[in-house]
Amino acid sequence: MIPILDLTKQYEQIQSEVERAVLEVLKSGQYIVGKHNKALEKEIAAFCGVKRAVALNSGTDALHLALRALDIGAGDEVITTAFTFVATTEAIGIVGAKPIFADIDPNTFNLDPNQLESKITAKTKAIIPVHLYGQPANMEEIMKIAKKYNLYVIEDCCQAIGAELNGQKVGSFGDIGCFSFFPTKNLGAFGDGGMVTTNSDYLADRILALRNHGGAVRYYHDEIGVNSRLDEVQAAILRVKFPYINEWNQKRKENAYKYNELLKDVKEVVTPRELKGTKCIYHQYTIEIPNRDAIHKYLQENGVGAMLYYPVPLHLQKVHAYLGGKLGDLPITEEKTTRVLSLPMFPEITYEQQKTVVETLKKALIECKATA
Ligand SMILES: *Cc1c(COP(=O)(O)O)cnc(C)c1O
Repeated sequence: MIPILDLTKQYEQIQSEVERAVLEVLKSGQYIVGKHNKALEKEIAAFCGVKRAVALNSGTDALHLALRALDIGAGDEVITTAFTFVATTEAIGIVGAKPIFADIDPNTFNLDPNQLESKITAKTKAIIPVHLYGQPANMEEIMKIAKKYNLYVIEDCCQAIGAELNGQKVGSFGDIGCFSFFPTKNLGAFGDGGMVTTNSDYLADRILALRNHGGAVRYYHDEIGVNSRLDEVQAAILRVKFPYINEWNQKRKENAYKYNELLKDVKEVVTPRELKGTKCIYHQYTIEIPNRDAIHKYLQENGVGAMLYYPVPLHLQKVHAYLGGKLGDLPITEEKTTRVLSLPMFPEITYEQQKTVVETLKKALIECKATA
């Protein structure tokens, strides 16, 4: 089986460093918000080119607390994409605001800036673009619209640490950037973890307080917060892994280009397209293919761990039924959810494995009699 992601190879590469770091934390007696937390925040802020970063328990909490820090809640609307993981809109729901879905750009699967203005109402407070699969959304256009209508922008960078648009890192365009260190992400912990980035000291300090029961000073509480601290073991592991992120992202990109080459004569397959001026980090390598469900099944049965991200767009999920979304609302999102297929992608995947994936895919196309 060639899995969608194999973390064991990466562990072999960094095993001794990780084990040393973890043991050091275990011996230190400092398990929550210690020196590794503070150092990781500084390192990620510098990497993203922002003033501040705050470590949290997950990417979901990063989104949730970003909304809280911007005072977005009941009665407010937040425009986002339905072509993402549910955590993006879950965070909007948690604070009591309403997600409003806009359609995506057919080439990049990210929010189409041209679809935004028609969704803006007097209640709109923010836009949450998602840099899906490690491809930056069109932030320049999105920021122009946000400025024109005086809206906040929260970037969902959970799949895109290190991705760039015109030399600028994601997480530094909007008011707040939200990152996840879930183990399968490009920078993954050995458990849950997350981070926000911002150029605002006010927002960073507010999130620092919110993550720790709503108070900047211990046992003095100003507002309802949460417990969303990153534990020190995870922070130490992330600091071991972080220096490798550029190398790992680069390898993913090289592997993506190898897939492009191997697939270039397969006329039924649409390979990923990059927005001009972007550095994509290929969290996923996602193709479009006809007869997708049959092909997916064939690949799964024949040793290729291809995956569907995501099979049901968010406006058609039961959790959002109260919003009254229906088939036909977001034609491009709906079409793409029937066509996308993510192939095994990780820095250590070998060329032999990639060739096997593509050979199996070609067989699947014949077996499933797919037509372009
Ligand atoms: C993973 C992910 C999240 C949530 O991150 P967690 O750390 O799992 O809470 C949010 N948005 C997107 C796009 C993601 O891929």
